Parts: sequence; structure tokens; C-alpha cells
Amino acid sequence: MVKTVSIQLLPADAFDERVIRRVAAEECGVHMKRITGYHIQKRSIDARSRQAKYILQLEVFIDGKVTETPAFDPELRNVSSGTQVVIVGAGPAGLFAALRLIAAGMKPIIIERGKDVRSRRRDLAAINKEGVVNPESNYCFGEGGAGTYSDGKLYTRSTKRGNVLRILQLFHHFGADADILIDAHPHIGTNKLPQIITAMRQQIIECGGEVHFETKLTDLLLDGDKVAGIKTAAGDTIQCDSVILATGHSARDIFELLHRKGILIEAKPFALGVRIEHPQHLVDTAQYHCQLRDAHLPPASYSLVAQENGRGVFSFCMCPGGIIAPAATAPGELVVNGWSPSKRNNPYANSGTVVAVDEHDFAKYGFEGPLAAMQYQQMVEQRAFVAGGGQLVAPAQRMTDFATGKSSSTLPDCSYLPGITSVPMDKVLPREVTDALRKAVVTFGKKMKGYYTEEAVLVATESRTSSPVRIPRDKDTMEHVQIKGLYPCAEGAGYAGGIVSAAIDGERCAEMCIAKMA
Ligand SMILES: Cc1cc2nc3c(=O)[nH]c(=O)nc-3n(C[C@H](O)[C@H](O)[C@H](O)COP(=O)(O)OP(=O)(O)OC[C@H]3O[C@@H](n4cnc5c(N)ncnc54)[C@H](O)[C@@H]3O)c2cc1C
Repeated sequence: MVKTVSIQLLPADAFDERVIRRVAAEECGVHMKRITGYHIQKRSIDARSRQAKYILQLEVFIDGKVTETPAFDPELRNVSSGTQVVIVGAGPAGLFAALRLIAAGMKPIIIERGKDVRSRRRDLAAINKEGVVNPESNYCFGEGGAGTYSDGKLYTRSTKRGNVLRILQLFHHFGADADILIDAHPHIGTNKLPQIITAMRQQIIECGGEVHFETKLTDLLLDGDKVAGIKTAAGDTIQCDSVILATGHSARDIFELLHRKGILIEAKPFALGVRIEHPQHLVDTAQYHCQLRDAHLPPASYSLVAQENGRGVFSFCMCPGGIIAPAATAPGELVVNGWSPSKRNNPYANSGTVVAVDEHDFAKYGFEGPLAAMQYQQMVEQRAFVAGGGQLVAPAQRMTDFATGKSSSTLPDCSYLPGITSVPMDKVLPREVTDALRKAVVTFGKKMKGYYTEEAVLVATESRTSSPVRIPRDKDTMEHVQIKGLYPCAEGAGYAGGIVSAAIDGERCAEMCIAKMA
């Protein structure tokens, strides 16, 4: 007999097989000896009461044989002589699109402006140590895209569980821990992602696909309203009739190219603000209602939302035990983001905390038309760079000083490697953002004890939350509304936000190419 049960365990017991069996037997109403085995299907934490507990969803085998979960088949084939599809961008969307094409016997040709994972590392060191941004190789551009040196949190609001599971299974197949298959909030960690991304690329090449680094798309060749090929910065052309455009939300030159060519794009509302960093122990105390976190619990996180001045303000991409990272893609701009290692063992917790902005805000600064949101975003990033004094030193302000309108005479220690300098956020962020944010940090402090504190610091700017442009596509064929054979894909086109949703969108675009060519 097989039963599915949900059990609650103290943190120390949640990893003890004997205790799990005993509690599962009680839950099933049978003697422990009759439990022949179990599979953990889902693991989550309930920290609402004073004592945080793990909740395990188990498939319990009573008396009978334990059935093994069928092995995952990544469906890898030799596609050397398959039909070619060009994929622009080797981020999660591009890589998962390539794997999907391979499963269908088609040959992906990926072109990527940035470098491979290993060479990219040197450029990240230059950003952190010297404040120098290579516009082709940085935290957003290069093998694996923004996903490689990201936090690797794999949660998504996508409700299509089957699709999500396949993405997680592929990550596991290429080296991620099996925990991601059961955790309610799966996380890989920045230290582990590069090997996983490298393994994906090696597999794509082994199957007969192609991956070309330092190869930037500079033009899209058209035959009337159809894709005819692409041109690269080196002047090479590749003829093809399908292009999956998975260039991410930071490829401003792509938005400009499409606009210049008269290919329809639209300005898109997005959200902008700051990274907020707290000492991790404050977040643990608030969320786990304790002085010292139980060693069996992970560093705590939070998710906060408010409506202030008629605008949504929300925390985003929370990185417990994390680091604030410099994520600009061009010199003269200051952009921050966050990551954490797999163990999440840094003493800080950071999250993006952002305010929704739209076309009315862009127009106040004279920005109109399809590139308005992008120009507004760029204006704020450039202002932050200047306010920080250059070399990626970031403007920062203590939370309580920001809320009460004072300059910070001192700043707390901060994980951001290029350094922070005291600058009032009003000098960097637009008024519509600071007004709502100022109220929100006080509201969040009422929702989460310990959040509103002088020990927390705001670091500007968190501006690449989602794409400032939408590249419209047909909802059935997923082709651009005007250009046949052009598949605007994932985050850069405005159809995904985060690693898993980008990967799912990459797969879907590939499936549409496959269907069209069948
Ligand atoms: C520091 C950091 C932490 C993050 N943490 C998380 C997290 O924990 N969880 C999560 O879900 N998301 C996280 N994200 C966001 C996540 O990485 C993105 O949502 C995801 O990578 C988007 O995937 P994508 O494939 O659509 O685009 P991208 O990953 O942006 O990839 C686009 C690729 O296209 C390439 N490209 C651009 N222009 C051209 C061109 N002209 N020619 C050729 N190639 C081009 C770029 O170099 C890039 O490699 C984080 C991002 C950052 C920067």
C-alpha cells in the first residue's frame, strides 16, 4: 500500500530517517515495522508559530516494495545534421531552448556576445576590484547570462508544475543537488552555478549543437516580413529562417536595433528602487522568533509587499546570507543586484526593494515612445554612478535616516565589494520612487519586527528588475507580431522574470519553432 501524508517535524528531526519513519508510521496509523520506505515529495518550513517546523510531504510504502522514481530522461540526441535554429543569447532561456531543440532532433546554433564562464570570471574580478565594467562581459552578459553568477533561487510564480519540474530535473541532471527537486524554495547558489552551466554547454556541443562566444548579433536580416538571417559584430552572416531572440533585459542595443529597423517594440512598466541589507541575525530573529537560529534551519528570508501613494512597493530577489553585487552592463552606470553562495553563510541578508513605475513617470522626464522606460532606467543608473563618485562606489543611506530625511553621518558595514558612500537617496532616485519607498520601509517595519532599524542600509540602484521593453509576439505561434520566424523570448522580451520562467519560455519558443518546421 502507498499513502501520501504530510508530517511536521522539529528542525533537528527533519533530517533524521528514524524519526521520519516513526512519525510517518503514526500518521499512517500502522506499526513502524510495516513502513518499507518513503520518498520525500516536498519540504517546506512553517515559521508562523514560535517554534519553526519543517513540513514534509511523504509518499509512504506500507508492507509492499518501494517503487523507485523513474529516472529522468533529458532526451539527448545527435543533431549534427538536424535543421538549424539560431539562438541569440546563452542565458537560461537560450540554453533551455537549445536542449529542447536537441530533444526534437534539431540543431541549435547559439551565439553569445560574452565569454565562457571561466574567462568571464576575470571580468567580474575587474568589476569588483577596480570598478571597471566590460560592456560585453559582466554580471549579465556571458555564458549562462544573468543566471550564472546569480543567486540561483529557482522559485517561480508559474503554476505549470510539469514545466517547472522538468527545468529542475534538467538542472539536477547537469549537477545541481537533488534537494532542489523537493524544496519549496529551491536554491543552487552562485558557487555551484558555473559548473552546471558549463556542463549544459558541453552537452549541447556533444550532441552536435554549436555555441559561439564573443559573437554579438548586430543586425537582423529580413526578407520582407520574414527572418532571413543574422549579422554579427565581426561582419559574419548566418542565414536562417528562425531566430530565438533571448538577449535578456539588459541588451539595450537590441531594443535600439529593433526600434531603428521599425520592428514593433513597446515601453513596459517596471519597478525600480534599492537593495536593502540587514545583518542576517536580525532577519533570523524576526522570522524564527528566536535569539539564535537553530542550526538545522536555513538563514531566514522575507517577502514584503505594500501599496504606498497608489503604487506597489515590494521586496524582490531576497538573498539570505548573501552579497550585494555590481550588475551594470556599461561604464558610467550603477546597478546593484544580489547573490548568495549555496550555504548562504555570509553575515548579511539583502533584497531588492522596488517601486512600480509607468509611462506617466517616464513622461515627467520627457521620455516617450517605445524606449521611454529604458531611458528612465538609464537616467537613474547614471545619476547613481555620478553620486557615488565613480568606480562603482554605490550611494547608500541608513534606513532610519532615509525614512526621517537625514543624511547618514556613518554607514554600517556592507557586503558590496566596490564600497558604499553616504548619499541621500533623494539625490539619486526619482521623487515618485523615494516618496513611496520612504513610507514602505516604515510599513514593512510594522509587518516584520526588527526590519526598520538603523542597522539596515539602502544601496542604490536596483533597476534591472524586469525588462523596460516588451517585444510583442503572437500568443499562439510566439513569433513577433510582424516578423515571421523571429521568436522574442523570455526576460528581455518581457515574457519572463527569473531563471525558471526564462528557461520555461526558452523551451516554449523552441517548441513553437519545432511545430512550425514539422
Ligand atoms: C546578480 C543576479 C542575481 C540573480 N538572482 C536570481 C535568482 O536567484 N533567481 C532567479 O530566478 N533569477 C535571478 N536573477 C535573474 C536571472 O538571472 C534572469 O531572470 C535570467 O537570467 C533571465 O534569463 P534570460 O535567458 O531571459 O536572459 P539573460 O540571462 O539575461 O541572458 C541573455 C544573454 O544574451 C546575451 N546577449 C545580449 N545581447 C546579445 C547580442 N546582441 N548578441 C549575442 N548575445 C547577446 C547576453 O550576453 C546574455 O548572456 C539574478 C540576476 C542577477 C544579475
